[in-house]
Amino acid sequence: MNKAIFLDRDGVINKEMGHYVFNREEFEFEPGIFELCLRARQSGYLLVVITNQGGIQKGIYSIEQTDTLHIWMAEQFKMEGCPLDAIYLSPFHKDISKNLLSKPSSLMIEKACAKYQILPGQSWMIGDRERDIMSGKRAGCSTVGIGSDTQHSGSDIWVASVQELLAIDFF
Ligand SMILES: [Mg+2]
Repeated sequence: MNKAIFLDRDGVINKEMGHYVFNREEFEFEPGIFELCLRARQSGYLLVVITNQGGIQKGIYSIEQTDTLHIWMAEQFKMEGCPLDAIYLSPFHKDISKNLLSKPSSLMIEKACAKYQILPGQSWMIGDRERDIMSGKRAGCSTVGIGSDTQHSGSDIWVASVQELLAIDFF
């Protein structure tokens, strides 16, 4: 069996811009994210991205643009010595259609757990929105909230930034 760090994308891996990010020009890595992932891998964790990309269903950008961005993003992680094991995304938006996939549902995490034999009880979900924390808790993971939106979400750990999280030996 395996353990994993589940990572939300916008606001955790890359900076939250306040609008949809779908090209690399606007994709700015969060300071400390590679070091965090490197440490996680060295501690035996798989790295799995769990991201809502509701802008796809809204027609703001395409699944192809998202795939192109994620292939590039995955290459950067590989070059930094901490390759990602998987990326799960939900293209749906709750304003357009109800769906079971998007966070706060835990379905993407559960799919990853089934495919990669991950024990949620030994795993962590890191996110910057309450829906990330809810998703992690529903799956049975421990949770890290980053930033003001998650301050009162009931996450196991709360920090202001990824860099602050590096100072805590949480896993
Ligand atoms: Mg986010």
